[in-house]
Amino acid sequence: MPSPARSETGDPLPLTPGPMTTSKSVKQAAVDDWGSRDATFVALNAEVMENLPKIIHGEDALVTAPMQGLGGFAVEAMLTTFAARVGAALVLVNGAYGQRAKRILSETPAITHIFAVHCETTSGVLNSIERIAALCARHGRRLPIDAPSAFGALDLDARMTPFDAVAASANKCLEDAPGLGFVVCRREALAKSEGDATTLSLDLLDQRRNLEKTGRCRFTPPIRAIVALHQALRDFWADGGGCCCGRRYRENARILIGGMRSLGFETLPPDALQAPIIGAFRRPSHPNFPFQRFYDSLKERGYLIYPGKLKVADSLRIGCIGALYSEQMRSALRAARETLAEMRVAPAPAA
Ligand SMILES: *Cc1c(COP(=O)(O)O)cnc(C)c1O
Repeated sequence: MPSPARSETGDPLPLTPGPMTTSKSVKQAAVDDWGSRDATFVALNAEVMENLPKIIHGEDALVTAPMQGLGGFAVEAMLTTFAARVGAALVLVNGAYGQRAKRILSETPAITHIFAVHCETTSGVLNSIERIAALCARHGRRLPIDAPSAFGALDLDARMTPFDAVAASANKCLEDAPGLGFVVCRREALAKSEGDATTLSLDLLDQRRNLEKTGRCRFTPPIRAIVALHQALRDFWADGGGCCCGRRYRENARILIGGMRSLGFETLPPDALQAPIIGAFRRPSHPNFPFQRFYDSLKERGYLIYPGKLKVADSLRIGCIGALYSEQMRSALRAARETLAEMRVAPAPAA
C-alpha cells in the first residue's frame, strides 16, 4: 500500500463536517498563549467579531454574539434567547439537527418563530432559506437560522433575506479548530430579547453587552480558537471570500458524489436538494460491507469518514469541507475504490 494521505502538517484527513482539516497557518496561529484581558487580544477579538457579519453582507444590520462551545451551544443560545419565552416555534425538520431543536423547544400554541436549518449536515439537504425567509416575512414570523455547516460557503445575504439571527461555528466552513460558536444577530431583534433568555450562560444579549463594554466574553474565551479564527478569516478573505470557498466545496462535492456513484453508492437527498458540503450515502446492503471495515481501511489510507446520523436510513457520510481540494477528493475516491475491491464488494459499473 502506498503511504497514507496526509495534510500539509502530517495529519490524517478528516472527511467530516467539522472538525475538519485545518491549514498550517491556522494551526500555527493557535500555538501561543494569550492574556484574555490584554489589549492585544481584545483588539484581535474585536476584529474577528466585526468581521463575521461581513461574510453575509450584514456589517450594518448585524452584530456578533460569540458563544463559547460549539455550534450546538450557539444554536441553543439563539433559541433560548429569541424563541423560548415569546410564543412557539415551528421547527422544520429534515435531519437530526432539526430533531435536536425540537428537543430544546417546548410546545405552546401560538407560533411566533420558524426554525430552519440552512444546510442539514446529517442528510446533506440544502434548504431554500431565501424562500423560507420570504414566507416568514409574509406571515409575520421570526426566523432564527441554524447554519453552522453553511456559514461562509453557502449564499446568504442579510440585505435581501429577512431573518433574526444565524447561529454558526468557527470549525466548519471557516476552517478553524473547534471551540467557538457565534450567533450573528439583527441589532433590533437582539435588543428586543431583553429578559427573554431562559439561561445565564447562553444569554446572547448579556454576552453582547459585555463584549461592547469590555471587549470580551463574559466568561473565559476559547482564546486559541479565536486567535486561529482571526488567521482563518484572513486566509478566507485573501482567497476571495465566501464565493470562492463555496466554489471549491462545490467542485469537491461534484467529484465526491460522482465518484461515489460510480462505486455503486446512492445519495440520500435528491440532486435538487443536495448541499455541496457533505455527501450522505446509503450503506450498501452487500454482506461483505460492514461499515467498520470500510472505515478502518480508509483510515489506514489516511482518510477519516463519518457514520450516518439519520433515522430514516442506514447511511454513511463523507464531508468535502475544510482545507481540502479536488486533488484530495480524487485520491480519497481512489482509496475507497481500493478498499471496496479489498473487501470484495464489487462496485456497480459506472452509469
Ligand atoms: C455542526 C452543526 C451543528 C452543531 O453541532 P455541534 O456538534 O455542536 O458542533 C448544528 N447544526 C448544524 C446544521 C450543524 O452542521
